[in-house]
Amino acid sequence: MENQLFIYNTISRKKEKFESIIPQRVGMYVCGPTVYGDAHLGHARPAISFDVVFRYLQHLGYKVRYVRNITDVGHLENDSDSGEDKITKKARLEQLEPMEIVQYYVNRYHRDMEALNVLPPSIEPHASGHIIEQLEMIEKIFNNGYAYLSNGSVYFDVLKYNEKHQYGKLSGRQIEDLYEYTRQLQGQTEKKSAYDFALWKKANPEHIMRWNSRWSEGFPGWHLECSAMGTKYLGEYFDIHGGGLDLQFPHHECEIAQNIAANQTEGVKYWMHNNMITINGQKMSKSLKNFISLEELFSGQNNLLLKPYSPMTVRFFILQAHYRSPLDFSNEALSSSEKGFERLMNAVKTLEKIVPAQENTVDVENLRNSCYEAINDDLNTPILIANLFDGVKIINSIYDGKEKINQENLLIIKQIYNDFVFNILGLKDEAKNSVENQETLKNVVDLLLNIRLSAKQNKDFATSDKIRQELGKLGFEIKDKKDGFEWELKK
Ligand code: ZN
Repeated sequence: MENQLFIYNTISRKKEKFESIIPQRVGMYVCGPTVYGDAHLGHARPAISFDVVFRYLQHLGYKVRYVRNITDVGHLENDSDSGEDKITKKARLEQLEPMEIVQYYVNRYHRDMEALNVLPPSIEPHASGHIIEQLEMIEKIFNNGYAYLSNGSVYFDVLKYNEKHQYGKLSGRQIEDLYEYTRQLQGQTEKKSAYDFALWKKANPEHIMRWNSRWSEGFPGWHLECSAMGTKYLGEYFDIHGGGLDLQFPHHECEIAQNIAANQTEGVKYWMHNNMITINGQKMSKSLKNFISLEELFSGQNNLLLKPYSPMTVRFFILQAHYRSPLDFSNEALSSSEKGFERLMNAVKTLEKIVPAQENTVDVENLRNSCYEAINDDLNTPILIANLFDGVKIINSIYDGKEKINQENLLIIKQIYNDFVFNILGLKDEAKNSVENQETLKNVVDLLLNIRLSAKQNKDFATSDKIRQELGKLGFEIKDKKDGFEWELKK
């Protein structure tokens, strides 16, 4: 069977055969979080969607350099070129060094991602650590005539750019609409037209995060960091750029314009966008106060939640929708994902108990092909999961004695579940880890203490004392009893 991945390319608006620019290597850039608050459901979706892309490309044998940035500068209050930087604002309110805020939320973001079994990227660059690269890019854009200086700030000249290139190519926006919008707003800002965006902003006196440049003391515009860091780590033209649909315009549209203006290349071969999550049918927004942080989701501490949902339930819930489809959060949907995930995990356990027969009555090749077909069709995880559930029926009928499987096919079906459930979809058996680890620990400590007991009976006090001391160092408190021992883990 030919194993060929097709992905929907936002810029061409069609599914394209995936062919890496350099054979066997993939460069992938995904816009990461702005770290001024806890990660919520809206952060989980891109992280998990592109984690599956990362995992599957590696499964196909590609060496992937995955870059996911940390936005810690230049992302302004109202997503335009005015307002206060969100991190600066938080630092001012809490009287902290901005980098304390950044570190605090980066740590928490990593904790949440690890819980969701999202693999760490190959490189996680911070915008604040790449000011020089961003200034160099502004210089190039400026020298190529696509930027202008106004009151110490540098703006990208969208109308000038649009004379030769197509601004709006990615998002499908028409420049005529932009002209209309621009006319209405003219004269209200220091920009030549309303659609121009900041490459460098001169800092107000109260702005804490600021750097020197030949333009002014200030900070880079938000769109610039991804162009600069993508180019630095993946080159001027790389394979995949991903992010949420909300970033398509203006963020990614601006990235393309910056790349062309600086390097004469769009920079990216395949653009991928995940759709958004709504909460009980509504968009997540500050005014509706319906953000659910991942920490709250895992603990159940939010009024919108009927109970806590485990990280793997959340991951499974997200994977049950195609990444380009909208997904609505509700307690009913999460509860049904919880049951579905449990059914899948039970089938994997059942698989371990199956004894192979001489005859074979099941078609595992067909199951494997249908799984690859689904994932190769633009990472269609809901169809993949449906196919895995078809396989669950096969597994259960074999276990019930209604069907038979031989040794060779049993190995294949185990491989299918190992590859797709654990390696590609990135799910893991949470119950297995906690319960089985505890059980194993108990057995190992009992074993050691029984060895100690017989050492004592043989008057080998050196060995019995050593076992007691070493376990003590690990935090185990041991009490000798007339008929044996008792122990407790103190820390
Ligand atoms: Zn970005």
